[in-house]
Amino acid sequence: MDERKCIRCGSLMVKGEIREIGTPIVFLAFVIPGNKTSLNPISAFIQGLNDESSDQVYRYSNFLGYLCKGCGYFEMTLNHI
Ligand SMILES: [Zn+2]
Repeated sequence: MDERKCIRCGSLMVKGEIREIGTPIVFLAFVIPGNKTSLNPISAFIQGLNDESSDQVYRYSNFLGYLCKGCGYFEMTLNHI
């Protein structure tokens, strides 16, 4: 059993997931910002040579959420990468 206690009040947290609700469909994602690619092609090429990271995007379907019914604390974690 996947039980998790709230780090703020110690109550048991309820596990949930993020879903698409309503229309039009809205896609949610968690993004870790990286370096934007330069509009200058030479600078962009140098960025590539330096292996500068771009945005890391995790789709919402990879997240699990935990809600504390005691205090309302909400926590999210990656289900898998
Ligand atoms: Zn709590």
